[in-house]
Amino acid sequence: MSDLQNPVFHDETKAREWLEAQIWPDGPVCPHCGSWEPTALKGKAHRPGLYQCNDCRQQFTVTVGTLFERSKIPLSKWLMATYLLSASKKGMSTRQLSRMLGVSVKSSWFMMHRIREGMRESKPGPLGGSNKVVEADETWIGGKAKNRAFKEPRPKEPVVALVERDGSVRSFHVEAVNARTLRPILVTQIDRASFLMTDESTVYTKTGREFSGHGTVNHSIKEYVRGKFFHSNTVENYFSILKRGITGNYQWVSAKHLKRYLGEFDFRYNTRHISDFERAAIAAKGIQGKRLTYRRASEQTANA
Ligand SMILES: [Zn+2]
Repeated sequence: MSDLQNPVFHDETKAREWLEAQIWPDGPVCPHCGSWEPTALKGKAHRPGLYQCNDCRQQFTVTVGTLFERSKIPLSKWLMATYLLSASKKGMSTRQLSRMLGVSVKSSWFMMHRIREGMRESKPGPLGGSNKVVEADETWIGGKAKNRAFKEPRPKEPVVALVERDGSVRSFHVEAVNARTLRPILVTQIDRASFLMTDESTVYTKTGREFSGHGTVNHSIKEYVRGKFFHSNTVENYFSILKRGITGNYQWVSAKHLKRYLGEFDFRYNTRHISDFERAAIAAKGIQGKRLTYRRASEQTANA
């Protein structure tokens, strides 16, 4: 059976039972008061999956208090969308997901932003540690769509990525690349016992002294591999996937939403050693207790 034939992507009851198992591994919990004492309401008048809390008396289903709450889209389609976005190494365009799921482009855009939010790690610990190398580098993503008819879009938004070798990536949209914008990211996201590897840019010089070691690679003379240690191949590889994905699927990404796309690419990279289905399960668990920070009005524009 291929992943896409899994009944959770086609059958509403199977979809709900699967999501309940992910969100409530130890049985249902009331999202209103945290009580473990709900009663399943199984009367004909009740919709499937409805519970009533015996403490606060409020009713709920598994999607209450999650990013999937109050959606008219069937849960099986939400799960398939979560799977498709989790499984596509370079991401997926809003229009492609719209066609594959049979939902409007607007719904597809709305769903994808919620799923990206589900992929976001809530409180990640620092990267690296003693005897670990963290590569840091910057690149420029996107450009104005109106330029595209005449030439390649001009690189525009600066992105800084930190990648622990054999470990995780974390990338950030920054307003500019300088020591002032980069230092707070480097010192809060990387364990200071780490060895920092960057290019020779002076933006890293001073902050580099705050780590156990700081090595530099000179990009301009194509010195990508100076021995097996002094290189930035790991972060370069990450940028290559990110750029192919953004250019190929997302055309251009508005600055406002760039961090959500970065989160999506970070998530897939950080879960690269597990199966597509396991990755989708992690994204599905991530829908709990999260709220989108942008207003509903912006959903209507369905751009990017
Ligand atoms: Zn309750």
